[in-house]
Amino acid sequence: MKTSCLAILAAVALGGCAQTPPERQIVNDAADALGGRARVLAVKTVVIEGAGINGNLGQDMTPDTTGQAFALSGYRRAIDVATGRMRIEQTRTPNFTYFQGQQSQKQVLGIDGAVGYNIAPNGTASRIPSAAANDRRADLYHHPLTIVRAALDTATILSNPRTHDKERIVDAALTNGLKFTLAIDVATKLPTRVVSMADNLNLGDVAIETSFGDYQDVNGLKLPKRLTTKTDKWTTVDITVSRQTVDGDAGDLAAPAAATSAAPIAGPPPAVVTAQEIAKGIWFLAGQSHHSVLVEFADHLTLIETPQNDTRALAVIAKAKELRPDKPLRLVINTHHHFDHSGGIRAAVSEGLTVITQKANATFYQDAISRSHSIGPDALAKNPKPLKIETVDDEMTLKDAAMTVNLYRIAGSPHADTLLMAYFPKERLLVEADVFSPGAAVNPYTANLLENIKKHDLKIDRIVPIHGTITPYAEFLKTVP
Ligand SMILES: [Zn+2]
Repeated sequence: MKTSCLAILAAVALGGCAQTPPERQIVNDAADALGGRARVLAVKTVVIEGAGINGNLGQDMTPDTTGQAFALSGYRRAIDVATGRMRIEQTRTPNFTYFQGQQSQKQVLGIDGAVGYNIAPNGTASRIPSAAANDRRADLYHHPLTIVRAALDTATILSNPRTHDKERIVDAALTNGLKFTLAIDVATKLPTRVVSMADNLNLGDVAIETSFGDYQDVNGLKLPKRLTTKTDKWTTVDITVSRQTVDGDAGDLAAPAAATSAAPIAGPPPAVVTAQEIAKGIWFLAGQSHHSVLVEFADHLTLIETPQNDTRALAVIAKAKELRPDKPLRLVINTHHHFDHSGGIRAAVSEGLTVITQKANATFYQDAISRSHSIGPDALAKNPKPLKIETVDDEMTLKDAAMTVNLYRIAGSPHADTLLMAYFPKERLLVEADVFSPGAAVNPYTANLLENIKKHDLKIDRIVPIHGTITPYAEFLKTVP
């Protein structure tokens, strides 16, 4: 009995050698091209050092981006293949007018199994939310060695072998639940890209793709000198490698105790929405980092800003309805497209609100509303509604018997091209986001804001900021250089 089983197994193995399934052949070819199956499987650590850029996804001048980036120096990505640990250290310097100032910032970004963590320049480690940790876990496999190694595992399910243009492509489902698409060059067999799907709060289901180029010989392996990562169509990381070390000293890649001992962070914190009536029919809805303003017209309500995410936006909408239950909430005025300010737009649409925004955002919001959110279904995915939108070019007035609000584009701001501010002429209030945040260490946008205030001859007593506390106009003027 024992003998016959072995004989059958031997026959199956021989048959397998003679006819490797095409999905397995793609992975085998990739391993051979990288230096051979045995060499690839023997790798314990890899350290990549170099320089490059981080794109400014969701925070650039326009939704389509204008090339704002952080220049990266001292870039070092260390991967311990066997333990599933990775740590990226880098110093980033903005090539644009950044709200925290132009000085360089050192970053340490790590993943250790399921624990994602950051280490601040002062050495304080903190655990990152689980969703971000999942993305970072996937990023560990956005390298030819790690993805091909994982794909060689016989427990990895390979499927859907195909050829497209000059690539052979295969899907790989790893035993840890992560899924990837691996593409190799039909001629050289070297990996050209790896793709994984992720949930982006603003963009929904997005492909995160890292492409590999300029392969060089390193210790009997071929490794790429150029690694470029895109989220959807936006470039987020572009690294040119100056030094690669295989099985050298990767350092201690274990997550710091402060991160491993912290509880997993499943989602955003519960929303806290405070309400302060700052003039008749105008409420400041604060409580956390991003505020909103509720405005009461004769027969309806309008919000300024539904920020951040579903949690915050839906809580702000609920507070508006609680404050004035007898009037319908119809509109939301969006200050600009930056992801932390537009992250609640989908929630607002799910509640039937019409979105008022600067004209340059119209295409982007139409796209954002129509995108699939199957990985992380949000309020709009569960309750689909069409986008109702009104756009502002340079100015618009919302006026009835009870209330007047003038909306102005903040022209020429170095913060964004899509900014609107809201001015209440009778109450002498100005609502703005990001271009004056009271208490900020630096104020790189206030000179331009003052130009816009003067251009429209606005008479202001108080500034009502989306970040920070309500501040007398005289205090704002002190921040203008
Ligand atoms: Zn902004």
